[in-house]
Amino acid sequence: MKSFDQMFLANRSWAQAKLQNDKEYFTRLSKGQSPKYLWIGCSDSRVPETEITGSGPGELFVHRNIANLVHSNDESLLSVLKYAVDYLKVKHIVVCGHCNCGGVKAAFDGLEDEHLGEWIGDIKSTYMSNKSGLSEIDSDMAKINRLAEISVVKQVDKLAEFDIVKNAWKRKQRLFIHGWMFNISSGELNTLKEVNPDELPEFQ
Ligand SMILES: [Zn+2]
Repeated sequence: MKSFDQMFLANRSWAQAKLQNDKEYFTRLSKGQSPKYLWIGCSDSRVPETEITGSGPGELFVHRNIANLVHSNDESLLSVLKYAVDYLKVKHIVVCGHCNCGGVKAAFDGLEDEHLGEWIGDIKSTYMSNKSGLSEIDSDMAKINRLAEISVVKQVDKLAEFDIVKNAWKRKQRLFIHGWMFNISSGELNTLKEVNPDELPEFQ
């Protein structure tokens, strides 16, 4: 584990390295942001969105929560989504799940803990409605990873029903939604689903 001293030292050398490459780097960064992507990911410390996508400051607008869930009554998510779509006019929303997700495993195990148990209720119901298909998979870990994938696709489908997203499409804002999966064992990202506005009747 890094000490705070080490973190601040690392910060100073990072800032110096940026300035050595580009004297105006922070001056430009401080003027504003216009990211093209909204990233909705898991809070898991092993899935740092900027690092795994080779992105820098200013490139991803980020919302993270346990198990990358999209709840229509989550004001934190709704405010991030609203700002990203209506004001920043992002072109892509990415919902990224990952294998070995503790949130998905907790739902699979039926965790009832206060706050946590309620938060992952959506995955519990996804599990119940996919139980027979998942029962054909041998190991619990493989079942959990498949459940994580099914949940990502479900979150993408849910997002496509949000008024914020539908209104963007109605006003011809070309907004894509992607469902991705990050494999912690290999470090690779893969696509599970893509909603392309060009293929939607409301976008014609
Ligand atoms: Zn996770």
